[in-house]
Amino acid sequence: MAFAQQLRVPGPTPLPERVVRAASRPMINHRGPEFAALLRDVEEGLRWALRTDNDVLIYPCSGTGGLEAAVVNLLSPGEQALFCTIGSFGDRWADIGAAYGADVLRLSVNPGEPIDPEDVERILAEHPDVTTVFVTHNETSTGVFNDIPAIAAVVKGRGKLLAVDSVSGAGCIPLETDGWHIDVLVTGSQKGWMAPPGVTMVAVSKAALARAEKTTTPRWYLDFARERKFQQKSQTYSTPAISVLYAMQEGLAMMREEGMDGVWTRHARVGEMVRAGVDALGLKFLAAEGHRSDTVTAIHNPVDGPDALKELLTALRTDHGLVLAGGQGDLAGKIFRIGHLGMIDEGDVYSILATLEQGLHETGMRSRVGLAVPAAQAVVRSVQPSGQPAGVG
Ligand SMILES: *Cc1c(COP(=O)(O)O)cnc(C)c1O
Repeated sequence: MAFAQQLRVPGPTPLPERVVRAASRPMINHRGPEFAALLRDVEEGLRWALRTDNDVLIYPCSGTGGLEAAVVNLLSPGEQALFCTIGSFGDRWADIGAAYGADVLRLSVNPGEPIDPEDVERILAEHPDVTTVFVTHNETSTGVFNDIPAIAAVVKGRGKLLAVDSVSGAGCIPLETDGWHIDVLVTGSQKGWMAPPGVTMVAVSKAALARAEKTTTPRWYLDFARERKFQQKSQTYSTPAISVLYAMQEGLAMMREEGMDGVWTRHARVGEMVRAGVDALGLKFLAAEGHRSDTVTAIHNPVDGPDALKELLTALRTDHGLVLAGGQGDLAGKIFRIGHLGMIDEGDVYSILATLEQGLHETGMRSRVGLAVPAAQAVVRSVQPSGQPAGVG
């Protein structure tokens, strides 16, 4: 058995020691002054990181709770909405919409492909009743990022509301909540924020709040207006996940020390290094070229069948302590995924790549070792963040 474990799934992510210490503080009264200061600091940090002046509502939920919050506040039963889905998290959002009785139009693509903004334009032209567009920024199940600025331009050009799932993108890859006119932006504590699971953060525009006043979908816990009323008094409606918020406060402090551009550049560099190493191993990417995520890399099964892939992932975990993720849904057994978000830097990438290569060697898949790390080393240090529109940043 391996002595130490390296957790490289796309969330939860490893926690910096500073964050672990912060999360282990004693409990405080969530109706008292210490909590008010904590909440204000976290809200301010999130507004800074998400580049928004909007309210950021904080719920004790995993990211899926944030997706549900967007649906129940933005849509009424029977209301037509377009869900652009490029994988299982996009499908999940559309399923939530259908569960609450919305008239769901789905734009889907083959696994590994991004959304083409022209398809969004065409569908919105054909369906003038659509009020709201839902789209995934970074699809964790396929390792693909969407061109949100281009999609937003289409959606806003037609005066629709725009909701974006950036659970595994925010805090890692370029995102301009206000600059891109995103009405509802959803993220989650256990992905890019170097914090444990348990909190979803939802940035809501004035237009989204105005819409929520009129929608008739039954809701309570996730109601925007109720939560906002409490946060304006520096409290939360229900008991908050205090330990997770302490962790987020410390994670945000670390991000401020690095600077948001620094965070983005590091993820871009790390993503490029992972891809260079994976390519040097002769492995194949699921994601289309030019849309490969800088937070998660999805790789076609390089061994013979789903059982052999399971054996490879088990060997990496038990013999070498490297924990990678398999595929979700229809992609189970067909791909595996490396998470490279949150607390990660060059040294971690060398370790991941060398271990993966060693694992392939031991299963007899590769006759030589020593290819992946030099390929990653050769990556130019000053890569630009991908997905960043010219002139922004
Ligand atoms: C992780 C994730 C979610 C939310 O999943 P939870 O398990 O509920 O936190 C939603 N969308 C994307 C893109 C994700 O990566």
